[in-house]
Amino acid sequence: MLLFGTAGIPNSAKKDTFSGILRLRELNLDAMELEFVHGVKISHINAQKINTFANKNNISLSSHAPYYINLNSLEKEKIEASILRIIKTAEISHISGARNIVVHPGYYHNMDKLEVYNNIKNALKKVVQEIEKYNVVIRIETMGKISQFGSLEEVLNLSQDLGPKIMPCIDFAHLHARTIGKINSYNEFCKVIDDIQHKLGKEAIKDVHIHVSGIKYNEKGELHHLNFKESDFNYIDLIKALKDLEVEGMVICESPNLEEDALLLKNLYHN
Ligand SMILES: [Zn+2]
Repeated sequence: MLLFGTAGIPNSAKKDTFSGILRLRELNLDAMELEFVHGVKISHINAQKINTFANKNNISLSSHAPYYINLNSLEKEKIEASILRIIKTAEISHISGARNIVVHPGYYHNMDKLEVYNNIKNALKKVVQEIEKYNVVIRIETMGKISQFGSLEEVLNLSQDLGPKIMPCIDFAHLHARTIGKINSYNEFCKVIDDIQHKLGKEAIKDVHIHVSGIKYNEKGELHHLNFKESDFNYIDLIKALKDLEVEGMVICESPNLEEDALLLKNLYHN
């Protein structure tokens, strides 16, 4: 079974987390990603209240760590600061009941890709040691620009090397943009799911975290997100592949229209 939700508060709700949860319940959606993308600014008490309220309304939560993270920064202090930001996100996400935490890992800076991989892996090792005590999983996102670390292979390898606290966030729109138009057919979507299963085991496709939206891209990859109906992204075949291969977990919609495309996906999935 897949749960469907929005990246942050739905557009049709008042701009606070509690109203967002209520609106999702009204719409019969299942999930919301807490957006800590500009910093983790909520208190422990509020995080606890959000947890209780989401539970009561049967809305599952995940979170998105700050954008200001680069685990391959050329400046050592910035790597340390990035590690601390992820740990802080993990602490608040744990209290909020948001188990999956999405992280943008960093940039290549024209360095050798294997060296970048090792830098990011070593930084994540430190994160793993600090978050053992929290009920969270760090989800390294597949990224849309070819200058960003985060191909499908890299993200799966990190998970394979670092164990169950580090898992992928498969952003299918980003994969499509990063490959300049590929990964957009039923067979290609099935291949992605098979790759996850081969590298991480069958459990991994029974506990996925997926991002999806329409997307605009050029030869460098992602430009910006779009609504499905304004883009070439083949969301219909994606849902078919996820359903046929019995993938389970959470699908977060990042189209600008948020809840409209999330509902489109949920309705396709159930019909
Ligand atoms: Zn993201």
